[in-house]
Amino acid sequence: MRLIFLFTLLVTTFFAHSQRNCGSSLYASRFGNKIFNQQNMSYNRDTIRDEVIIIPVVVHVLYNNNAQNISDAQIRSQLDVLNEDFRRMNADASNTPDAFKPKSADTKIMFCLAQINPAGAPAKGIVRKYTSNTMFDVNDAMKFSAAGGDNAWNSKKYLNIWVCNMGSNAIGYSSQPGGQADRDGVVIQYTAFGRIGSLIPNFNRGRTATHEIAHWLGLSHIWGDSECGNDGIDDTPQQSNYNNNCPSFPSVSSCSPDSNGDMFMNFMDYTNDACINMFTNGQKTKMRGQFSINGPRNSFMNSIVCDSSLAISNDTVVVVKTVVPSFNIYPNPAISELNIEGTNGFDLKGKVLKLYSSSGILQFTKSNLISSEKINISQLHSGVYFLSIISGRESKVLKLIKQ
Ligand SMILES: [Zn+2]
Repeated sequence: MRLIFLFTLLVTTFFAHSQRNCGSSLYASRFGNKIFNQQNMSYNRDTIRDEVIIIPVVVHVLYNNNAQNISDAQIRSQLDVLNEDFRRMNADASNTPDAFKPKSADTKIMFCLAQINPAGAPAKGIVRKYTSNTMFDVNDAMKFSAAGGDNAWNSKKYLNIWVCNMGSNAIGYSSQPGGQADRDGVVIQYTAFGRIGSLIPNFNRGRTATHEIAHWLGLSHIWGDSECGNDGIDDTPQQSNYNNNCPSFPSVSSCSPDSNGDMFMNFMDYTNDACINMFTNGQKTKMRGQFSINGPRNSFMNSIVCDSSLAISNDTVVVVKTVVPSFNIYPNPAISELNIEGTNGFDLKGKVLKLYSSSGILQFTKSNLISSEKINISQLHSGVYFLSIISGRESKVLKLIKQ
């Protein structure tokens, strides 16, 4: 009997999630604040051109059983996916059809697990909490301790992500920019979070969070949530509706503007994780516009960095920016040994070096540098890293590829 019940549960869960079930539009209809009707709202300017914006993230894990209490490694795998997808460093970027490749964008937006909590103490950006709720609905209960959830960290400074059991109610949903502060953030089904662990087969590459965070940054669904609708983005084609599973290119419908048809590989369609691989330049502009002077996410331009040692005594205001580098690293890509030297009169002597993984985790620190440094990186896994040289309040960052 128990087996039959389990089987029924598995089948129900499977069918409930055989297509992407994003609750963001339902949420907007329940909680107002229709950013989806504000598609033409634009902000005066983008942020500084090509400046990398790093968003501190706190993940609230709400669990009613052990399976729902997902591992740190699963959470870190999600941060890796976000940084790859938003920087167009995803391995499947090559699957974007040639016709759409010129439209694809590196958004220059990144994410890190917050290393300072709202009280200013060191943190790991993960909160774990037992809940007596066996399942949550698209109603924000997970965002409030009094309702069996966990209260948001200051949503002006942190992107709050709640990971919990949504059952078949939704695979995830997001609030919209400019909404109520204590409800601001995204919610993700625990079996669709990250790319390791026990995951729903169609949603096992961490793209649910990519999709929902793009909503959090003001994007609409690519079909504009209506037949032949408009998502307010100039370089995404009109679509008659959402796509499921993974169509073959080109997939043309009655409202396709040309023979290239639907952009079903866009992160804002409903196709499977293995099928989606791009944002467009227009979507990039829209998302970065949220950070502009009058934009609803502008406060993140003065947010907390991921490394508590960069905080300045009474200051929670530290921004890591990619600036014109005044040091060089070579070779890059590197295998075992890395040389670091100052340029344009910049001396490394006495400075501090910090090396971060692409998910913002500090790998190692070296203080009191000499003018010409050699560091051994042979123990690092292959991948993308960020090397930061810190001098007082300033830091300079370069991207390092470890082979
Ligand atoms: Zn959605």
